Amino acid sequence: MAIATINPATGETLKTYEPLPDDAVDERIGRAVEAFRAYRLTSPQERAGWLRAAADVLDADTDAVAELMVTEMGKTLAAAKAEVGKCAKGLRYYAEHGPAMLEPRPADAGAVGAEDAYVVHQPIGVVLAVMPWNFPLWQAMRFAAPALMAGNVGLLKHASNVPQTALYIEELFRKAGFPADVFQTLLVGSKAVERVLRDDRVAAATLTGSAPAGQSVASIAGDVLKKTVLELGGSDPYIVMPSADLDRAAEVAVTARCQNNGQSCIAAKRFFVHRDVAEEFTRLFAEKLSALVVGDPMAADTQVGPLATESGREDVERYVQDAVDKGATVVTGGERVDGPGWFYRPTLLTGVTPEMDLYAEEVFGPVAALWTVDSLEEAVEIANSHPYGLGSNLWSEDEQERATFIRDVQAGMAFVNGMVTSYPELPFGGVKQSGYGRELTELGMYEFTNAKTVWIG
Ligand code: NAP
Repeated sequence: MAIATINPATGETLKTYEPLPDDAVDERIGRAVEAFRAYRLTSPQERAGWLRAAADVLDADTDAVAELMVTEMGKTLAAAKAEVGKCAKGLRYYAEHGPAMLEPRPADAGAVGAEDAYVVHQPIGVVLAVMPWNFPLWQAMRFAAPALMAGNVGLLKHASNVPQTALYIEELFRKAGFPADVFQTLLVGSKAVERVLRDDRVAAATLTGSAPAGQSVASIAGDVLKKTVLELGGSDPYIVMPSADLDRAAEVAVTARCQNNGQSCIAAKRFFVHRDVAEEFTRLFAEKLSALVVGDPMAADTQVGPLATESGREDVERYVQDAVDKGATVVTGGERVDGPGWFYRPTLLTGVTPEMDLYAEEVFGPVAALWTVDSLEEAVEIANSHPYGLGSNLWSEDEQERATFIRDVQAGMAFVNGMVTSYPELPFGGVKQSGYGRELTELGMYEFTNAKTVWIG
């Protein structure tokens, strides 16, 4: 994929970039190593000050950076502004709580025959972050805020369709006053990742993206024995039981499926509805989906913008066509919007069966697949048969059902009567082929630290 800004609302190529040649990448890794030498010795309080300054810069830049994201990947302007706000909040969260998370944790010195014993979390060095375009600022910030707080330095290889946002992120940390080169953007394609990862000067990597990208990075990292965190795909279940507030569940279902134009790893993608309420829920869900305003992402009343890439829309079309060919019913949507740009109508499919490609894969666009089930157990069983296990949602007022769902669903996150969302205060991550490791909270920060055991006799 060329490194370029192509406006998904028009299909127009606005700016292209030459990828950094290998020697320039090498030189930047050298600068990162140099930066780390001094940065690791800064105090958590100093780093917290820079994180706060970065949040202030983001606040001031909100309109410009939001418009940039809309132009590069097509999310609505309102969603883009909300993303900027969320990033500022994430930076402030680590500024506030990071220093305490980095305090040495005392152990029972007497039990180990020591005068003093404790665990101290120390930075590990240069961390490579391979990031996707769907939340171009948030995904990068979710890595950067805890990593910089811990004293690591970052190299960002962002998705090739968001180069200007990627460059902005480097500039943001510079403007915030961080020491030079603690966070650099490498404008390179995905083929360059292996070379960077194999470089002895790079300590670890995190990747947010598709399962094939994760497999590639994990196998290279395994070969050179480097730590990785992987945040991969999802096909989150959304289970609706008879005791649920159906109107509310349908309202939230629309947001859960169509947020970010349907391109979120934690979007609810598979809907399991109890037979007793299936007809009513399907009617409400279809009604609300078809009422969504699809159009220019810069317009204030738009709720769903275009898909980010032409090939992304083709993938969505292929999944829907395959399902229809094999007997699925299109309740609403099921077609592209005529005209320029990569728009696709919010879609509801029923009658999904295991032969259909979308059954066990991930549709990265505004397409909801709905199953009618006879019990919570049946819903959880089908949900768990999927290779992914990122988030999950249940709508129920029944205590027993909630407990069963929380116990049995194979997912990194279980949300009851609400949609899966990321918060700095809650760990984020998946199981099975959705990846491993956690982001956010102290767990996210400790992923890229050396938890050093200290024993003093
Ligand atoms: P993608 O193709 O995997 O791209 C993500 C990033 O990985 C990009 O920077 C891409 O670079 C790079 N990349 C691609 N193939 C690679 C390889 N073989 N080796 C090294 N790097 C590689 O993902 P996408 O299709 O754009 O994004 C959507 C996917 O990301 C979905 O599956 C979604 O669920 C997942 N996602 C997961 C989370 C989470 O937190 N779990 C969050 C958001 C998205 P180029 O752009 O240069 O190809």
